[in-house]
Amino acid sequence: MKVAVVGAGPAGAVAAYALARDGADVSLFERSSWPRAKACGDGLTPASVALLGEIGIALPPRARFARTLVTGPRGAGFRAAWPRGVPDGTTFERIAFDALLVRAAVAAGAHFYDETSVDRIAGDTVTVTAAGRERTERFDAIALAEGGTGALAARAGLPPFDHRLAAYRGYVETATDLPDEYQVHYAGAFVPGYAWIFPVGRRRANVGAVLAARGDVRAALGAWMASSADARGPLGVDARLEDGRGGVICIGRSRRHAGRTFAIGDAAGIADPLSAEGVSQAMRSAVFFARALRANGGDPARAGIAYERDVRAFDANNREALRMRGLFRYLAVPMTSLAARRPRLARHVIASGYFPKRDARWFLQTFTAALR
Ligand SMILES: Cc1cc2nc3c(=O)[nH]c(=O)nc-3n(C[C@H](O)[C@H](O)[C@H](O)COP(=O)(O)OP(=O)(O)OC[C@H]3O[C@@H](n4cnc5c(N)ncnc54)[C@H](O)[C@@H]3O)c2cc1C
Repeated sequence: MKVAVVGAGPAGAVAAYALARDGADVSLFERSSWPRAKACGDGLTPASVALLGEIGIALPPRARFARTLVTGPRGAGFRAAWPRGVPDGTTFERIAFDALLVRAAVAAGAHFYDETSVDRIAGDTVTVTAAGRERTERFDAIALAEGGTGALAARAGLPPFDHRLAAYRGYVETATDLPDEYQVHYAGAFVPGYAWIFPVGRRRANVGAVLAARGDVRAALGAWMASSADARGPLGVDARLEDGRGGVICIGRSRRHAGRTFAIGDAAGIADPLSAEGVSQAMRSAVFFARALRANGGDPARAGIAYERDVRAFDANNREALRMRGLFRYLAVPMTSLAARRPRLARHVIASGYFPKRDARWFLQTFTAALR
């Protein structure tokens, strides 16, 4: 089976890795000069760490974060640990993390071509351009792991995304050691989005924000860093954001498969609409894609049915979260204040990712935890 994978982010690299391990002949095409940076908070949540363990990709030793600090706009905040049984989260600058995944794919037998842009897909043929030269090749299946642009997916006839979130991040070198924790700040301008401080070194933080509503996320982040005690405390009063980069997080695509093409990762629109986490989802969709092809002997039509079914079930939480996002705008701040006084509620909201686990049971559990 010959498979083309377009884009070497976490979705593409993990798809290439999993398929090459299954014995497929995989070509992984990446248009950037490798390795490349990516606008991201660099947060590898417990879900990402667990998934890497599950597929056998080892992370080098690095700081692990057992807890998260969450604050609301008026200073009320709480710290809580992940629930028992899940691995601690970590951070990994994407330029190095994505390179690690691609190395794993190549070690498994995938062929990797950077500075190679996929320009056209027609039926079973893929046309790529590298060093100004075009070539066309035939493939049995094609994974679109092109990220949030979704350009090729749109041309393949897949429906557009339902929503886009804007996010921006940069790096701050600090004069003092950073606390060993993720920090999530529900500052007024961002809610139901948030600002984050994720340490990527003892004195180096990834600092960013995600905005669910329209607005200038970069300006809002700058204003927050200049004025908020939550930012000025850990980062210092003269914090300078270096290497700033913005990006979009695309949410919701009603169909992810057409003919021989499969949208995976951000191209599938499966990032979390409240936390903007997308790395674990990207890798998980890649695992679904590889499994669907393997289980159906490489038949793209049957694999497409299996893939759509798996992704749709996985994405059910996100669809529910999107419906609740309006409500979350009003819930985030009072819930943070209440959790500051009720450790059981604090543990519960961290356990469920600090966003509604999207069904009546979650509401009931939250309500019960809030009362105790
Ligand atoms: C500011 C910001 C902060 C975020 N923070 C976090 C976080 O802390 N934790 C988390 O889990 N998620 C986070 N996310 C989401 C996360 O970055 C994405 O969900 C994740 O990168 C998706 O991976 P992917 O492989 O689908 O796409 P990408 O990582 O975007 O990779 C797509 C690749 O495809 C290549 N490509 C595109 N078109 C072509 C083409 N035609 N030919 C060849 N190559 C092509 C691109 O160059 C790129 O390398 C954040 C997003 C943003 C914008």
